[in-house]
Amino acid sequence: MLEKYRVAVESCGRCGKCIVGEAGYICPVQQHTGGFDHYVARGRNQIARAILDGKLEYTPELIDVVYTCLGCKSCYEQCGLLDHHTGQPAIDETKITRAMRVDIVREGKGPLPALKAVDSNVQKSHNPFGEPVEKRSAWAAGLDLPKTGDTVYFAGCYASYRNPKIAKATVAILKKGGIDVAYLGEDEWCCGVPELWDGNASLAEELIQHNVNALKVAGVKRVITSCAGCFHSLKTDYPEIIGKLPFEVVHSSEVIADLIENGKINLDTEIVKTLTYHDPCHLGRHENIYEPPRNALKAIKGAKFVEMPRNRGNAWCCGGGAVVAVAFPDLSKDIAYDRIQEAKGTAAEALVSACPLCENSLTQAARKDKMEVYDLSVIVAEAMGIQI
Ligand code: SF4
Ligand code: SF4
Repeated sequence: MLEKYRVAVESCGRCGKCIVGEAGYICPVQQHTGGFDHYVARGRNQIARAILDGKLEYTPELIDVVYTCLGCKSCYEQCGLLDHHTGQPAIDETKITRAMRVDIVREGKGPLPALKAVDSNVQKSHNPFGEPVEKRSAWAAGLDLPKTGDTVYFAGCYASYRNPKIAKATVAILKKGGIDVAYLGEDEWCCGVPELWDGNASLAEELIQHNVNALKVAGVKRVITSCAGCFHSLKTDYPEIIGKLPFEVVHSSEVIADLIENGKINLDTEIVKTLTYHDPCHLGRHENIYEPPRNALKAIKGAKFVEMPRNRGNAWCCGGGAVVAVAFPDLSKDIAYDRIQEAKGTAAEALVSACPLCENSLTQAARKDKMEVYDLSVIVAEAMGIQI
């Protein structure tokens, strides 16, 4: 798989623009691992090149390094090598990392033990936590959501099992805005993000095929999801792996911003707080969606919006991406804590994100600090006077 990225790997000129920017280290992992080059794109590319040339093999130590990458794309944003045709950065380390992980699994050397447990859970119960299948749809009890329709809400595993308020709030907002949503219930399986990132390509494809078939059976034309990870996988990874999809995929923040702009919903229940926004990597750098969540927050009556110093393309990751939260929980927590400190530095009283995984990582990191953490859907529902 890595062979597919040989040109990108070999074109890295070791310029070092992916190492340090105006605000310090570009790579959150490098910041917390002693500053060594092999944790960021420049060093990772040299390792990849040596593997491609047969000068290095995947040792246990090297495998650990490969599995520390958060897939945050921060290094891509800064890469000094531009594609002549597109004018965009030429080296996407997240693709190179994923390819290396697939090769590690194909060689029978991975994924790491904690990730094997995740894969086993997904195989047995279609979610990474090993929770019972029937618990997935508990959040929708009493909502009478149909299983078929033009628009399906894809809740994802984190909102279904870890923070059902996000799923309930999203559906309540959509309903109030006049959008009737269907829901697959137990036919919604893990979107495949853990497997796409842990190198288990065959399990990822099985999940993708299942979800696409279930969505086709539901007759869907548009999928709305409130999870940045599900959104990026459904919108971009799915078609890359199985071809064009017969439906559109949108993130709930886009829909919410449209509903506000078109006067379909009003955020007129006062929330007198200073808010700041954390860009989920899979929504921002991976999908270029930066303004809709901000526009929604700015529409909340009584709220003041402030930016963190690192925002949009320069945003610091929440530490939870690309299965690092499972494989290296302490590293993940340290990175999330950085983000809480950055939010505190703005004098914000609440930090809002638009992804249940980010919300989970940031909430855990904020426990010691006076910082409230919200998902966008929950604070928008509150501003609409909806009781969840
Ligand atoms: S994608 Fe993020 S975590 Fe991975 S090497 Fe680049 S900056 Fe570091
Ligand atoms: S910025 Fe791009 S070209 Fe420069 S060292 Fe990093 S990955 Fe290589």
